Amino acid sequence: MKTPKPAITSCPTCGSPRIRRVCRDLQRTYHNQPYVVPRLEFFECPACGERVYDREAMRKIAAASPAYHKPSRAAAR
Ligand SMILES: [Zn+2]
Repeated sequence: MKTPKPAITSCPTCGSPRIRRVCRDLQRTYHNQPYVVPRLEFFECPACGERVYDREAMRKIAAASPAYHKPSRAAAR
């Protein structure tokens, strides 16, 4: 079964209808450790700069995050 992607037509923060879907590299920081999520699709509001990530975007962010790349338990310490 497929679940349709929820369409975002207005910014949840400022209500601007100018929010739109963009596809670009996203730079984030995790515990002072910068990392990049390449070619991520997400919604960005040009009015207030709010960014909204859908489920798939969240998954890609998690996959790129250093938090997700912990060494195996056997190798720790
Ligand atoms: Zn906004």
